[in-house]
Amino acid sequence: LVPLDDLNKSAKKILKEDFSGKIRYDYDNEVGVFCHNFEAMRDELRYSKEKGIAVRKNEKELLACISHDIKTPLTAINGYVSGIRDGIVKDRQGIENYCNIILKRVKMLSKLLEDILEHSKAELNQLNIKLTEIYSYEFFKNILDDLSIEVENRGLAFIMPSKIPDLVIKIDKKRISQVIYNLVSNSIKYSKEKGTISIYFETDENYLKVYVEDTGIGISSADIPYIFNKFYRGEKSRNQNIPGSGLGLSICKYIIESHGGFIECINSSCKGTTMCFNLPI
Ligand code: ADP
Repeated sequence: LVPLDDLNKSAKKILKEDFSGKIRYDYDNEVGVFCHNFEAMRDELRYSKEKGIAVRKNEKELLACISHDIKTPLTAINGYVSGIRDGIVKDRQGIENYCNIILKRVKMLSKLLEDILEHSKAELNQLNIKLTEIYSYEFFKNILDDLSIEVENRGLAFIMPSKIPDLVIKIDKKRISQVIYNLVSNSIKYSKEKGTISIYFETDENYLKVYVEDTGIGISSADIPYIFNKFYRGEKSRNQNIPGSGLGLSICKYIIESHGGFIECINSSCKGTTMCFNLPI
């Protein structure tokens, strides 16, 4: 039994953000495995919705992309199965050819669903963070030297901090570098021509604060509360077709929080943006 009709109906329902229902299937064949993955996806989507993660409009966009990727091969499968049922192919060879195409599409769908599930599960937990004690001066100095070349190569001005604190901090050097690169890459990506990017530090009793400031296009105030959510892309990024996944800042947030710190957007206007992350000292 190939529960294509049910799959198709479910895909349509999912498109409308209705995650109710469950397909009946036998697990012991490829279609069964596919149905199982399909149901796992439905559960995952239902769970995401209930948890209210990310902002609704972005979730819908993501869902639309996924559903589209699912729907296209499903439509093909539907066509070939109907072809067999309606006797468009009758001979053994013709039927076998159709079946091979159907199986190929089913495999494609299974793979796609697996990837989506893997991605959502692995995305954050897989980031392995190992903290070691280091002196902050040398670590930041090396990064900033590299960054100044990178930024100036893009035709932007780079302003070095007047002073780099030298404290003992407990960090994963690779991951904190990743955060700074990410923030500076965003500043580059969202810069206007002849922009400036500055980095500076502050310390208080509890934290070493690292600021990344740019003179770029800024973030609409309506977007600011959501930019650290996964898959969230600001209105300007989408409208101006600036490429990105909306994952960068959510990963920065995860890394910084794994260090016992926090990251925030200090301010943003059409004159530019200031991001700051705080590492415990
Ligand atoms: P991406 O850049 O791939 O869209 P991010 O998670 O890095 O995803 O950022 C989320 C959103 O925050 C971006 O889509 C953009 O709207 C906004 N943003 C982040 N950094 C900046 C910046 N320096 N200047 C302007 N907008 C920014």
